[in-house]
Amino acid sequence: MFIVDALDFQYFALIVPSSLLLLALVLWMCGRALPSQRFLLWVAAGFMLLSLSLTTQILFPSQQLDLLAPLLTAGYMAGAFCQAYGMALRCGAVYPWRLAMGLSGMAVVASMYWSWVEHHWWWGPMVSSVAIATLYLFALPAVLRHPSLGRLLERLLKVAYFAFVVYASMRVALVASIVGRDGVAGLLIVESPYWAHLLVVAFFISMVFMLVALACAIQDLLHRILQERNIDPLTKVLNRRAFFEEATRSLSHKTSGPWSIIACDLDYFKEINDQWGHHVGDKVLAQVAASLVSQVRTNDLVARFGGEEFCILLNGTPLEEAYQVAQRIRADLAKQHFGLSERAITVTSSFGLASIHGLSDLEAGLRRADQFLFAAKRMGRDRICVDPAALLLQPAAVATTALP
Ligand code: GH3
Ligand code: MG
Ligand code: MG
Repeated sequence: MFIVDALDFQYFALIVPSSLLLLALVLWMCGRALPSQRFLLWVAAGFMLLSLSLTTQILFPSQQLDLLAPLLTAGYMAGAFCQAYGMALRCGAVYPWRLAMGLSGMAVVASMYWSWVEHHWWWGPMVSSVAIATLYLFALPAVLRHPSLGRLLERLLKVAYFAFVVYASMRVALVASIVGRDGVAGLLIVESPYWAHLLVVAFFISMVFMLVALACAIQDLLHRILQERNIDPLTKVLNRRAFFEEATRSLSHKTSGPWSIIACDLDYFKEINDQWGHHVGDKVLAQVAASLVSQVRTNDLVARFGGEEFCILLNGTPLEEAYQVAQRIRADLAKQHFGLSERAITVTSSFGLASIHGLSDLEAGLRRADQFLFAAKRMGRDRICVDPAALLLQPAAVATTALP
């Protein structure tokens, strides 16, 4: 049988705070390297404070710990505060830091009183456990409300933080049940086997929490980099490069066909810039892009190809249906009022349509859609132009939209 005496256990237990401290240092360095992930610094600082307090609790003899109890309470409270503050920061929520500080101050004063003035081994740990659980609870609603965006890691982070709060709250009850049982009194709790179990649980939750927080920060960063690479900052739709990547993916799956392309260009857009200024032109472009997105399905692709020209790839859509979609978009744009001034600005747009027959036809299909767009411009703008031979509609219905 494996037996550890009290002293061995004491040093064995140091593995917990030292591992937490090491991981917290890694977290801190990542927080320093990633300015957009400031919350990591708070979470890391929280774990550093917790591991230092834990080391003190493990190393000092129980008699001295009685005197150090207020200091330990302050260390644990500061650690919990930093962690909860960091999580609220990550969720874009306001942490009630004044209330938290007031509560922490009261817990420290209470700990001083029961350690130094009226010696009571039960009240000190109880009060600090309740206060610590409350500090974590302050950030819990924001953490649970924060959208997961379907990401597994985000959900895991919520679960890990929730586990932390549950552990901190249960610690209150556990401390109450341990203290006083089997003659365990006050800070002698450190030498109790129950405490070893608590330590293992806390260690496991802390490690999971820190690793998941780190993974979430890295995932956030990668997502941001990909967004910057793929999304046009003004209109928030795909840029040309991302369109080709996404279109290649769609066109590689035969099941997502048939495909149609809509090329769209705003009419006389230069005049809007000249008359109202470039900033109004920018707002018009953003609003146009938003309405294009609203008129198609989520699996269709909307991209800004440059200037005031957009391109839409419709999956699972024959040309006849694409024609209806283009008509809907044209009508929607024509009835919209743009701009901020009292005088509403209106815009019209021209469209060229083509069907795409697989991945190898993408470039050629885009050229065909461009040719029809050019034809729509030449025919007077504010219209949709498509090859009537490819469109199985009544010739009369497309007579004005065909290439001359
Ligand atoms: P057409 O009907 O023939 O398409 O005429 P147009 O005026 O729309 O086309 P033209 O190519 O002559 O002008 C396009 C204008 O789009 C010129 C340019 O200043 C403007 N533009 C391009 N990119 C941006 C942008 O990011 N913001 C703003 N505000 N304007 C832009
Ligand atoms: Mg134009
Ligand atoms: Mg143009």
